Amino acid sequence: MPRPTAIPRSTLDIPTLAASLRAGSRAALARAITLVESRRADHQAAARELVQMLLPHTGRAIRVGITGSPGVGKSTTIDVLGMDLIKQGHKVAVLAVDPSSARTGGSILGDKTRMALLSAEDNAFIRPSPSSGTLGGVAAKTREAMLLCEAAGFDVVLVETVGIGQSETAVCDMTDFFLALMLPGGGDELQGIKKGLIELADMIAINKADGDNLTRANITAGDYRGALHILTPRSEHWHPPVVTYSALAHTGIKELWQKILDHRTAMNASGDFSGRRREQQVKWMWTMLEQRLMSKLRADPALRSKVRLIEKDVADASITPAVAAEQIAALLKE
Ligand code: GDP
Repeated sequence: MPRPTAIPRSTLDIPTLAASLRAGSRAALARAITLVESRRADHQAAARELVQMLLPHTGRAIRVGITGSPGVGKSTTIDVLGMDLIKQGHKVAVLAVDPSSARTGGSILGDKTRMALLSAEDNAFIRPSPSSGTLGGVAAKTREAMLLCEAAGFDVVLVETVGIGQSETAVCDMTDFFLALMLPGGGDELQGIKKGLIELADMIAINKADGDNLTRANITAGDYRGALHILTPRSEHWHPPVVTYSALAHTGIKELWQKILDHRTAMNASGDFSGRRREQQVKWMWTMLEQRLMSKLRADPALRSKVRLIEKDVADASITPAVAAEQIAALLKE
């Protein structure tokens, strides 16, 4: 989905932008996220200032990552769950990490048209995946967008992704609860095990447990319970449950959310909650640093051409990758 890249000058008046965002202006929030996503150096500096300024107002949302193959029902689930939460008085932001968006120039994930109910709600904010750069870059920007949404008063943030490459790890690293959606007997179970996905998941939820699928959904749930049984859980205070639900028939959604709340209660009681957040912050610092170093390498034409020559030497096997890395590190120091 195309989005405006031009950033009006007024956006760079950071204190004013921060104040309107805090006052609940959706336009300000959208502009702030565009600023965070911009690759221009002056915009990035402004974005850093903005996020730092808003930091005291972040961190209070429930952050939930949601993954699942295309067609599993992510958007239907988010639409229905999001509406339930809004009815309970929450404000719900939906963000996405779509590593393929860099290639396709657009993102299916987080597309408003997929969430018809939520997109008409004042208390929902839906933003598609940033569509530039590497997975690390996309994820880092989504994480900052999440902080902006929190500062704007959104107290539930849902971050969706698809099981491509490392995107699940990236989303898991920015959320408090990682939810893996599966299909009844879709053969997904083996995939999940292979990718290590079920090691990341705080809960596995089998969607489409309705009509003819009901029995198969229960069998699949049993399979996952068996698979989880042999894994060591990430926290000794939480054993990832396996539930079945139907987004379409609106059954099991309330129970699904209750598990997320139970998890938070358990993690708070054990201290794992703040532990996970602290670890995540530090991990993100390193991710941001990697991003900066990489973008420095890419942005400076002189550096870029030197790196290309080194790269050629490595390809020709005239120097080792280790020596090349050393040379590039030295270039960065200059
Ligand atoms: P996404 O690609 O993961 O976002 O999946 P969608 O939410 O777009 O759903 C894919 C298809 O599955 C759509 O045709 C939905 O109507 C259907 N679907 C979603 N949830 C359910 C459900 O609970 N039961 C059934 N039977 N179909 C569903």
